[in-house]
Amino acid sequence: MAMVKNTQKAFWVLTPPVEEGPYYKVGSPARKNIAEPGTAGTKLILEGRVLDTNGRPLSRVWLDFWHADGRGYYDNEGFNLRGHQFTDRDGRYRLETVRPYQYLFRSPHIHVKLRTRDGSSFLTTQLYLPGEKSNETDPLFQNLTVMDVTDTPGGQKATFDFVVETEK
Ligand code: FE
Repeated sequence: MAMVKNTQKAFWVLTPPVEEGPYYKVGSPARKNIAEPGTAGTKLILEGRVLDTNGRPLSRVWLDFWHADGRGYYDNEGFNLRGHQFTDRDGRYRLETVRPYQYLFRSPHIHVKLRTRDGSSFLTTQLYLPGEKSNETDPLFQNLTVMDVTDTPGGQKATFDFVVETEK
């Protein structure tokens, strides 16, 4: 979805930053399944890659996710719905979680911080769900960070490819 096509060529658009917000916590556990047992919300699997502006996959990129549960609540005491991981050799990541719910003026979103292996690129942004009414009124909403979401028998599957600038 980050790739924009015209009739002649395809090029890769940088993933824009979105502000961190008030609920980030350092020290999240290393894990791909960030929803602890009993977490409210529809099951959501998010998968994708981290790419440079030429569409080349970036391995060992640190990704730190955090978001609200299916009722719009953050765990600020513990680390539920918080976790970090690194992209594999093909630049891929996979997050197992639940679908976030809106809170205050915010449309549903997944926060993420990303840092490339050589430290040349650092990004803080938020991923959005398509088709949410509140996307139209949330001042932080970005079209470029909307995930593709499809229904599956066990919940929903989302995809998103990050595109970041690198020095090399
Ligand atoms: Fe938030």
